Amino acid sequence: MPQKLVYGPVGSDEAMRLEESCGAHNYHPLPVVIARGEGPFVWDPEGNRYFDFLSAYSAMNQGHCHPRIIEALVEQAKQLTLTSRAFYNNCLGTYEKFITEFFGFDMVLPMNTGVEGVETAVKLARRWGYDKKGIAENQAKIVVCENNFHGRTITAISVSSDPDSYKGFGPYLPGFIKIPYNDADALEKVLREQGDDICGFLVEPIQGEAGVFVPDDGYLSRCRELCTRHNALLICDEVQTGIARTGRLLASDYENVRPDILILGKAISGGVLPVSAILADRDIMLVIGPGEHGSTFGGFPLACAVATAALEVVRDENLTEKAFELGEHLRTELRALDHPMIDLVRGKGLLNAIVIRPRDGVEAWDVCVRLKEKGLLCKPTHGDIIRLAPPLVITREQMDEALGIIREVFDELR
Ligand SMILES: *Cc1c(COP(=O)(O)O)cnc(C)c1O
Repeated sequence: MPQKLVYGPVGSDEAMRLEESCGAHNYHPLPVVIARGEGPFVWDPEGNRYFDFLSAYSAMNQGHCHPRIIEALVEQAKQLTLTSRAFYNNCLGTYEKFITEFFGFDMVLPMNTGVEGVETAVKLARRWGYDKKGIAENQAKIVVCENNFHGRTITAISVSSDPDSYKGFGPYLPGFIKIPYNDADALEKVLREQGDDICGFLVEPIQGEAGVFVPDDGYLSRCRELCTRHNALLICDEVQTGIARTGRLLASDYENVRPDILILGKAISGGVLPVSAILADRDIMLVIGPGEHGSTFGGFPLACAVATAALEVVRDENLTEKAFELGEHLRTELRALDHPMIDLVRGKGLLNAIVIRPRDGVEAWDVCVRLKEKGLLCKPTHGDIIRLAPPLVITREQMDEALGIIREVFDELR
């Protein structure tokens, strides 16, 4: 018998067995192992091809292993990967100029994961509240929404209304006020009653993890007006909705809303490296000074090269327009299924969800398993919601092929 590899690629059964026995059980993956990806497709170790309709929670907007992004990664990796911010490097400034012009803000603060972006925004808003708004020491409050998802740190779970996220991890961080989502009147009330101590309002323009919950038209622009009137910062968490996913460069563009602090992550690197950022104008960003915030990797040269290439791909391949058009097509076709198990279809661009009405013991999870068996990967959220979010590089022909798979699975469930 040849000796087994200690580390190296393995087949599906072995890969699942190893994760089960050696990895923490903090996820419940669909039983599929991915070994390779290209554009909208992934392959398992046995060579079966699947459409990726999750896109790593919208981190892969540019598709798997985009050649231009991978080339930027490899070329930069040969030159310089990390310096820390103790020194300047010859990539960061160029990237900062590029990304601030790309999104139209004065300044950027680079971090790594999405939740670090959120954390950074919370710190910046609090500091702004003390230095600029004159809130008394330790009194600053940030308004957040029910059913949000802002990540997994203690800050993020302290504002969560999902017991799976927060239960058993207390004590929680004080200084937040939770109001219902899609309810500008609730925001107005809290700003009127406690506005002097409120430094910011943290909101997702569409709630992604909550199940692609799209608020009413006009919601975000009213929130913008209220924040301006009460001198509170509008902080948009566009970690999932940003970077062309919803058919606009930013989901807040649908209402021509410009946040005071914009949080980006996920697709900013095309799913190649953990890269996040917050953007703001000078008068806000400069309340944080040297030594007051940072990250060893934040803004590292490799990330700068990769994120620049990833954003160029979004621009040069017109991914925003593609997401808008293919999203309309996808929703039209899904609604036309007119299936008793489909309660409703919602979304914007290529961030979509089907709400499943379970029937004869078949639930959203079972639908996802059937889709997987026919070659399309997606993941249920909150029991009855299936998110459909393919890479934005998917072509119309590929989308129609994927729709054929979805149609087949639902036809079998009639
Ligand atoms: C995914 C997500 C985050 C957290 O990003 P991580 O990179 O997983 O830390 C924060 N906010 C929103 C809206 C997200 O979808």
